[in-house]
Amino acid sequence: MSATDLSDSKLPTVIGILIVGAGPAGLGVAQALLACGIEDLLVVDRKGVGASFEAWPQQMQLLTPSFHSNPYQQPDLNAITPDTSPADYLGTQHPCGTQYASYLRGVAEHYHIPVESWTTVLEVQKLLEGWLVTTSRGIVHCQFLIWAGGEFQFPERGRIAGTEGLSHASEVADWTTLDGVEHAVIGGYESGVDAAINLAKQGKTVHLLSRGEPWHTNDPDPSKALSPRTRDRLREVFVQRPGSIRFYKNADIVRVEKLRDDYLLFDAEDTPLQVSTPPILATGFKGSLGLIAGYLEWEAGRPVFSEASDESTVAENLFYCGPLLRHRGSMFCFIYKFRARFGIVARTIAERMGVVWRKPLARHAACGFMIEDLSCCTDCQCAVAAVGEDPPEVRDFKGSVLPAVC
Ligand SMILES: Cc1cc2nc3c(=O)[nH]c(=O)nc-3n(C[C@H](O)[C@H](O)[C@H](O)COP(=O)(O)OP(=O)(O)OC[C@H]3O[C@@H](n4cnc5c(N)ncnc54)[C@H](O)[C@@H]3O)c2cc1C
Repeated sequence: MSATDLSDSKLPTVIGILIVGAGPAGLGVAQALLACGIEDLLVVDRKGVGASFEAWPQQMQLLTPSFHSNPYQQPDLNAITPDTSPADYLGTQHPCGTQYASYLRGVAEHYHIPVESWTTVLEVQKLLEGWLVTTSRGIVHCQFLIWAGGEFQFPERGRIAGTEGLSHASEVADWTTLDGVEHAVIGGYESGVDAAINLAKQGKTVHLLSRGEPWHTNDPDPSKALSPRTRDRLREVFVQRPGSIRFYKNADIVRVEKLRDDYLLFDAEDTPLQVSTPPILATGFKGSLGLIAGYLEWEAGRPVFSEASDESTVAENLFYCGPLLRHRGSMFCFIYKFRARFGIVARTIAERMGVVWRKPLARHAACGFMIEDLSCCTDCQCAVAAVGEDPPEVRDFKGSVLPAVC
């Protein structure tokens, strides 16, 4: 148990601010509140600090590079406070999950962030005054509730029939332990491409199937296009193991069937692809908002948060911090994006508590941890047009798949 981990202590029954989730979002917003001198807060986590990163596949590393540029008011892209840097703390540019979790524990210790591990929030109820939160270790009444439960621990299985028993990419602990020489990966965004690269590096053949053609997207927003890090890794595979990753566009898989020892993947028009190993799902994440869904406004299946303070638009004093945040159609799904709102949430709560925030949050404001001008969401074009680049060979799922052996 770390100095900040209170899991052997008694859970308080009343607290000013309860933060759910001890990942980058929960710890980052907690530090911003502590910077304002607000200590009546508690972070709870169903596992512990950095639990999602501890669960990353062994080979997975942060895509966003770390570099200690903080003194120049441009904090390390993966930092969760203005004055810490994973690059400096870990001495690496692309930390793996366990390394980044150790950075998070370092931050929690340094800023004395109170964390109760092994405390799962089971139910949330709005009261006339504040919130009643039922946890696995007791009931807590709080005035402000900040949800920072993340997404990684809640995989989306993609509404594909017959996938029971198949692994989601986030559930694979180590890509070197998979049997077989040929794999199908369903989903062509970052997680799917990461899986394909890790398998190809072991000399395996990978069928990478995706709706549309996400690897082709030449979008200036890194949340919508493959990251430069992933493109570099793909280029390496194209040179070292040409042909090992087969890209299939327009592959909208709707069902998987077992055929003796093999698996058949079908799209809606019954085009089959036969593989000898269980397909891997890289179909995204549904996120952790289930318990508070009833206290949020939803638009086209997405939660709406106020532009002023990332607060629920229908339930006062319920805030969200983390990668599911969207404003003006823009996704805040990277740390450097959602941390831009830590200072905003902290400021709002400080104001409501009558606490001075301007000077205490000056570093947050100066370092991009307190961005209120959301025009950053509406124009992320680079002044110089990007040079487009696609994988060397992409097949259309319908035209290129061999008939299955039935
Ligand atoms: C595969 C993948 C790769 C990514 N790579 C990058 C990257 O390279 N760079 C980047 O900036 N971002 C990346 N992201 C975005 C990523 O979501 C964030 O970096 C980060 O993990 C989100 O932080 P978080 O604190 O919101 O969530 P998490 O780190 O998931 O933390 C949430 C915490 O909440 C806890 N929790 C959840 N529900 C409950 C509950 N009911 N009760 C109590 N505790 C609960 C969990 O145990 C967990 O510890 C990646 C995401 C994924 C899925």
